[in-house]
Amino acid sequence: MTPDAVTPGGGRGATRVLVLNCGSSSVKYRLVDMADGRRLAGGLAERIGEGDGGRIVHTSGSGKPREQSHLFPDHAAALKAVAEELRADGLGLDAPGLAAVGHRVVHGGTRFTAPTLVTDEVLDEVRALTPLAPLHNPANVTGIEVARSLRPDLPQVAVFDTAFHATLPEHAARYALDRAVADRYSVRRYGFHGTSHQYVSRSTAALLGRDPAEVNVIVLHLGNGASASAVAGGVCVETSMGMTPLEGLVMGTRSGDIDPAVVFHLHRVGGLSVDALDELLNRRSGLLGLCGENDMREIVRRREQGDAEAGTAFDVYIHRLRKYIGAYCAVLGRVDALAFTAGVGENSAPVRSAATAGLEGLGIAVDPARNALPPQGPRLISADHSRVAVAVVPTDEEFEIARQTFALVHRSRG
Ligand code: ADP
Repeated sequence: MTPDAVTPGGGRGATRVLVLNCGSSSVKYRLVDMADGRRLAGGLAERIGEGDGGRIVHTSGSGKPREQSHLFPDHAAALKAVAEELRADGLGLDAPGLAAVGHRVVHGGTRFTAPTLVTDEVLDEVRALTPLAPLHNPANVTGIEVARSLRPDLPQVAVFDTAFHATLPEHAARYALDRAVADRYSVRRYGFHGTSHQYVSRSTAALLGRDPAEVNVIVLHLGNGASASAVAGGVCVETSMGMTPLEGLVMGTRSGDIDPAVVFHLHRVGGLSVDALDELLNRRSGLLGLCGENDMREIVRRREQGDAEAGTAFDVYIHRLRKYIGAYCAVLGRVDALAFTAGVGENSAPVRSAATAGLEGLGIAVDPARNALPPQGPRLISADHSRVAVAVVPTDEEFEIARQTFALVHRSRG
C-alpha cells in the first residue's frame, strides 16, 4: 500500500476510494481507505425508479446503521443522497483524500480484461456492450455518468465482473456452435462474479500461507446468484457462468444448466414468448421455481421438517454443485483447495457438508465440528487427513474493486 499516491483529484496523500455498485434499482457503496484497508463508510440505496418506499441505509465506520426514507426517481437522485450521507460524516465527495471512484461494471465483453480508467470513449464502448448485459450495463453506465458529473476532476475506474475470466483458454470459452454465427454475435463464455473469484482465490492462498501462483483452487461462490471457478496458479481456467449469468449452478431464481431444446419446446408447444422464457429461466426457476422459496435458510428448515419440495430443491442444488466440483477436479488435475463463499457458502454448514460428503476419493474431507462453527473470518474446515484444504472465505467484492481501482490510479500517476 502506498499512502503518498499523487492524484489529480485528491492530491498527494489521497488514499480513499469510493466504490459504487449500481444495480437496476439499487446502489451499493463503500468508502475505503487504501492506506490501511479500513472501511470508512458504506451503505445501500434501494427502490430507485420504483415510486415510493425508497430508502438509504448508511453506516459510518463501525457505527450503527442509520436509515432514511427517500423518493428516488432515478440513479442521479440516489447518488446525490449517497453523497449527502457521506458529507454528513465529513466524508463527502469534495472531502480531501479521495483518490478515485471505482465502479463495478458487469460486462466487459472481450474488450475489457482489466480495470480501466473511464474516458468518453470507454464509456461509449461499455454502452455498446449493453446487448450482452441488458439488465446490468445501463445502470453501471448511469452510475459512472452521475459520479463524473459530481466530481469531473476525479479519476473514475471501471472494474469488470467478467475480467478475471478473460484468461479462460479457448477450449473453455468457446461453445460448440457454428463458428461464424458464434463470432458474429459475440457468443462465448465470459463468466461473472470475477471480482469475487479473484479475491477469494487469492485469500485462500493467503490462508494456506502460500503464493497464489503455487496453488490450484476451486471457488464456489454461492449467493443468490451462484458460480464456480477453477483457478490454476492464480489464473482462472474455467467458470460455470457463460455468455450470461444464467448458465451453470442452480441459483436462487435461475435454472443454471438446462437443455437448450427446452426453450424451443416451451416456445413451440407451450406458446411462451422469448421474453416470457427469459423471465421464467432467470427469475422464476432455480430454488424458487423448485419449491417457492429462494432463501437457503428457509429451505433447510423446511427440509428438516420433512417438506418434500424443499427436500428436492436442496437435492437438485447439491447434485449440480457436486457435478461441478468433480468436473473442476478433472479440469485442474491437482486441487489444493476448495473454497466456499457468499451468502450460502459462508453461512450454510448443511450445504457445505452435503456438497462434499463422500468425496474422500477426490481427496476432499470436511471435519463436521469445524464446519459447524458459526461464521467468522477466513478459516479451514477440512479434516486433518484431507489432501485438499477446504476453506470458508468471506468474499469482499467492494474491497477488491477499491484495491484494483487504487492500484490503477497509483500506477497511472507514477
Ligand atoms: P447476492 O447474490 O444477492 O449478493 P448473497 O451472497 O448475499 O447474495 O447471498 C444471499 C443468500 O444467502 C440468501 O438468498 C440466502 O439464501 C443465503 N443465506 C444467507 N444467510 C444464510 C444462512 N445463515 N444459511 C443459509 N443461507 C444463507
